[in-house]
Amino acid sequence: METFSSLTQNWIKGHPIWAAMILGSGAVFASEIIWSGIKYVRDKFRIAKNHVLAVLVFNEKSVICADKHKINRNYQCSNKYCKEKHLRILVNLIDRAEYSIDIAMYTVTIFAITDALKHAIARGLNVRLIYDKEMMVCSGSQIEILDKHGVQVRAPANTATALMHHKFCVLDSSSRIKELTGKQQTNNSRSILVSGSANWTQQAFSGNWENTVIYADKAVIACFQNEFDRIWKSLDNSYITS
Ligand SMILES: [Zn+2]
Repeated sequence: METFSSLTQNWIKGHPIWAAMILGSGAVFASEIIWSGIKYVRDKFRIAKNHVLAVLVFNEKSVICADKHKINRNYQCSNKYCKEKHLRILVNLIDRAEYSIDIAMYTVTIFAITDALKHAIARGLNVRLIYDKEMMVCSGSQIEILDKHGVQVRAPANTATALMHHKFCVLDSSSRIKELTGKQQTNNSRSILVSGSANWTQQAFSGNWENTVIYADKAVIACFQNEFDRIWKSLDNSYITS
């Protein structure tokens, strides 16, 4: 009795052209599947790589190198939780922004960030800040200074229970660029979202267990920009500046 294998071999011998076509199609089909798999893994990796640019973690180790930074401003620190390195990353993001910076932050007390925002205003950027009204008078608050230097500031009216507790910042979002310039975002500009648990305060950067994540995901950035715009517009009548 002939086996399936010998039957197949006999059929191939009897139909060499058909056999070649079937085998060729199979090879093409298999290569397509393999290529699709490669593209899927590659794209997945690219998305993961591009959409979260950095994760900054603050903890009890964030200030163990503080003295070394004080002695040497160019100290090459290897501490991955370093407050100074994290702060430099945030300042660099502000420094490289080209059009807009929208900040929703419970409060701000870090001088280096105030300076970076002042420079942004000097470069002609549109900078807006929503903060918590109670924190306007907290120790070291930079809100009044920022207001005086051209940052537009708004806060929800005081309520007994609700806090303006966000800690996020959107830089150069495409919708904001279009609103300000009438143009679509250029390829050279890059939208960024900074969000996490950390306020831009000395306490958060040097004493707390906190996180800050830096995103380049356009869909996530659009969500945060939309919410910023919604809150900002809702505060038209409760606008307070010093
Ligand atoms: Zn350090």
